[in-house]
Amino acid sequence: MVKNKKNYATFMFIPEGQSTVKSYRMPVWFPRFVTMSIILLVLASGVCFSALSSLRLQHEISREEIGKLTAINSSQKIEIEKLQKNSQEVQKQLEENSLILEEVKKAVGITPSSSDENIQIKLVSPEDSSPISLLKEGSSPDMTANIESIESSFASLADKIAAQKQVINESLGPIKSQLAYMMAKPSIVPVAAAITAGFGYRKNPFTSRGSEFHKGVDFAASYGQTIVATGDGIVMFSGWNAGYGRMVIISHGYGITTLYAHNSKLLVKQGDKVKKGQAITKAGNTGRSTGTHLHYEVKVNGKNVNPSQYFK
Ligand SMILES: [Zn+2]
Repeated sequence: MVKNKKNYATFMFIPEGQSTVKSYRMPVWFPRFVTMSIILLVLASGVCFSALSSLRLQHEISREEIGKLTAINSSQKIEIEKLQKNSQEVQKQLEENSLILEEVKKAVGITPSSSDENIQIKLVSPEDSSPISLLKEGSSPDMTANIESIESSFASLADKIAAQKQVINESLGPIKSQLAYMMAKPSIVPVAAAITAGFGYRKNPFTSRGSEFHKGVDFAASYGQTIVATGDGIVMFSGWNAGYGRMVIISHGYGITTLYAHNSKLLVKQGDKVKKGQAITKAGNTGRSTGTHLHYEVKVNGKNVNPSQYFK
């Protein structure tokens, strides 16, 4: 290298075995510029390399994160599926409860009213089962739609449960009073014995002349045989009556009373609460009677009715 003018330098270059000399003239700052450029390049590539490494690391981390999220996502899918199945089970149960309630009401003789139909729990509709189809393989990993559907189905179930509770509460009163009436109503025979005389006009059994109105039913009970109350009620009378002998009268409410006559023994006293089927007397032949038997009467609002219509 030879200095030429102040700001220029000339490189002379003699290749071996050749007679020519190559010379390059350049500004004196040029080699410094080249050196600086190379240094900058090295530095820049260093920065690039480290940035690349960091990117690669981040990519690895992201891949791991995505893997973890995918695992969480699939387990959430399973959970959501379970929740949806549970909600359908609850829906089915609600439907069954409604049917049971209707059966109970029918059994006690309550006819369904139109207001009940308005709050009837609907059967599982195809819309309710649709969220499950969203969760089939290859579906979108976005759970928002599924979560929203689960939320709305739970909200609707909560409404249905509240509605059913209201229906049940409203039905309890009528069911209880209907059951009380069924228990009070004289609906069984007072004694396990054959009927020897029915309700209505018959030949006078004492004089054999003319006819009399038989106000009840006679049972061929044997002496001392247990006589039972034919419905729940309260003993209105338990004592002696000239014609009926040892007699019990039970008030069942609803304007219904029953009378048991000609007994040998009384097992209850006035004011006692009695249950349907409870022993109240022992059969006998007291009062105006032609032999051991039970004379049984049913009155509705003070008027004698045929007791046979109540026997099951
Ligand atoms: Zn009689």
